[in-house]
Amino acid sequence: MKVLIVGGGGREHAIAWKLAQSDKVDKVYCAPGNAGIAELAECIPVKAEDIGGICRAAKENQVDLAVIGPEVPLAMGMVDELEKVGVKTFGPNKKCAQLEASKAFTKAFLEKHNIPTARYKEFTHKAELLNSLGIFGYPMVIKADGLAAGKGVVIAETEEEARKAIEEMMGDKVFGAAGDKVVVEEYLTGVEASMLCFVDEHTIVPMESAQDYKRIFDGDKGPNTGGMGTYSPSLVFNPELEERIRTKILEPTLAGFQKDGLNFKGVLFIGLMIGEDGPKVIEFNNRFGDPETQSVLLRLETDLFDIFSAVVDNKLSDVNIKWSEKKAVCVVLASGGYPGAYEKGKEICGLDQVDKDVIVFHAGTALKEEKVVTDGGRVLGVAVLGDTHEEARKKAFENVKKISFDGMQYRKDIGVVVIK
Ligand code: AMP
Repeated sequence: MKVLIVGGGGREHAIAWKLAQSDKVDKVYCAPGNAGIAELAECIPVKAEDIGGICRAAKENQVDLAVIGPEVPLAMGMVDELEKVGVKTFGPNKKCAQLEASKAFTKAFLEKHNIPTARYKEFTHKAELLNSLGIFGYPMVIKADGLAAGKGVVIAETEEEARKAIEEMMGDKVFGAAGDKVVVEEYLTGVEASMLCFVDEHTIVPMESAQDYKRIFDGDKGPNTGGMGTYSPSLVFNPELEERIRTKILEPTLAGFQKDGLNFKGVLFIGLMIGEDGPKVIEFNNRFGDPETQSVLLRLETDLFDIFSAVVDNKLSDVNIKWSEKKAVCVVLASGGYPGAYEKGKEICGLDQVDKDVIVFHAGTALKEEKVVTDGGRVLGVAVLGDTHEEARKKAFENVKKISFDGMQYRKDIGVVVIK
């Protein structure tokens, strides 16, 4: 079988790495890929958002399955277009992709199906929103409705901060059309956790849990990032909580999809706030999370190609998904200055020095004159398995120290439970 992965980050590297282990997969293509993915797959120089180019590449290479990594091509309807040209594709279609591409769509879905979430109100007029400052008190949670590369959420502590955020979103249009509509939510307190699930039209199966570290600095300080590391399984979960999530969130979500004619097929990522009154949904994403995927796929024992094929064919319930008992830690190495401005093109040293059983997933890297150089904010993810969280953590940091590039920064508390 030939598989085409769309994307070029750490998540796509983890997917390529796992698919390359399948007996059924003869060839992996990745568009556009990166320097690490190029070691396991043939990289095709087509951008992940180029629907026409991806459809052509899939047909020319006669791929049997396409897998879409990032949210933007999903929201653009890449799955629908690939299916129109006869390519089976793992990922939600355009209609279902609204679950990530529109926060108002998701909030309406959650409310309609009685799935626990923060109270909310949506606004399309700036003046009306400015007249409703603090409707749920402060902090005021203000979200651009559309995709904003993870930057569209402001937690305003004061009226002044709220006004500034609203001016930026609805006046200055810093997120473009994504800010035409704004969702305001009640502020939730508790511990954040995320759950990734495989979903087809009949079944929803949670994967092993993972805990991510969103902020740039140790102790969960500083601005939000795309994710600075993860560990799996998350110590936030326990069987009682998992049961509650299953009955109050997963089952009603699948039933809601069925009632609303949302034939979701792919990965549903559920961002949760675990508060005193139980788990509530903060957001849905409709693809693998990055860097959760790197920790979680390290622990997957079942053939990922079998799972993807089963989802596409609506036979997920036939697959018995097995996970390793081992613990995983993934530490992200980022460029100096990230999540603000950063330079690219710094030579990465020491990749050949890491232990044989450590996997270094490439996120933002490129090949320049046969050298691996930095090419993004998040550059690498050092992923390790151990018998205990502590063993995995220790080994991850021992190996992180073998890698270097100018300006390299990373969090030193990945794997330590952060409870706010
Ligand atoms: P989102 O993109 O919707 O997941 O929001 C990004 C981050 O903002 C979340 O991971 C939370 O840390 C925070 N956040 C979002 N919504 C809320 C809320 N209603 N209450 C508290 N924090 C929130």
